[in-house]
Amino acid sequence: MSEAIKGSCLCGEVSYEVSGKFKGFMLCHCTRCQKASGSAHVANIFTAPENLKIISGEANIKRYDLPNPPAFGKCFCSNCGSVVPYLNGAGTAVIIPAGTLDEDPGIRPKANIFWKNRAGWFDDGVKAACHDEFPSK
Ligand SMILES: [Zn+2]
Ligand SMILES: [Zn+2]
Repeated sequence: MSEAIKGSCLCGEVSYEVSGKFKGFMLCHCTRCQKASGSAHVANIFTAPENLKIISGEANIKRYDLPNPPAFGKCFCSNCGSVVPYLNGAGTAVIIPAGTLDEDPGIRPKANIFWKNRAGWFDDGVKAACHDEFPSK
């Protein structure tokens, strides 16, 4: 990735730009990520903290850190609840929730982690019927 790419939350109040090199892209199926996202897994891209620039809505960003384990946290838009980029517990990387990007990041997921904890219905969802839009019946 050479040019900055943009991202935003659902309501659009929080917007950001990320530039530089991505360090990795992982899908995490742990039970904490299932709770935090309400879905089967999160899709997290990692980059250096200095690569993230919040463009708008910084005052709207709230952080939640799980007391135990302390390294697990998330940031979200206090207006719409969307997860937004956040610094990891160690302060060494910024985590970009891939679904908040407005453009294709180029990088592709390299690993499914905590695979043993994946939702019991995940594999069935992958095999389920596909519809381009909401099905009519
Ligand atoms: Zn929002
Ligand atoms: Zn996880």
